Amino acid sequence: MSVIYRPKGMAREYSPYALNIYIGCSHRCKYCYAPHTLQRRGEDYFGKPESRKNILTELEKDLKKNVYIEQVLLSFVGDCYCDSADNGETTRAVLKMLNALVSNVGTKADHHTNGAKSPRKS
Ligand code: SF4
Repeated sequence: MSVIYRPKGMAREYSPYALNIYIGCSHRCKYCYAPHTLQRRGEDYFGKPESRKNILTELEKDLKKNVYIEQVLLSFVGDCYCDSADNGETTRAVLKMLNALVSNVGTKADHHTNGAKSPRKS
């Protein structure tokens, strides 16, 4: 199963592909729909997010099997530049892997950098 996926329905207007790196988000936006969508309590979702289990291994397998010529959005649920438990280490590793093989990587905003390098600034 691919960790890069095609968003469904109207969500696809944002990006043809997406990859969610972390579970949870530290930004606590008042309008956030993620806890409701994921059926999680806000206090569980809005902490210091951990990276998804085996995300780097699974991404490596995915990139060996599939070619992505359209944009891959990081991340559809959550924000790859939030205040994560690993200080953005997983985001940086994902960007290195994607930069080698994927031509178009997008994020929602580049002001949430927290020391992680935005692809738009690389
Ligand atoms: S950045 Fe996105 S996922 Fe994070 S709290 Fe705000 S709306 Fe929710």
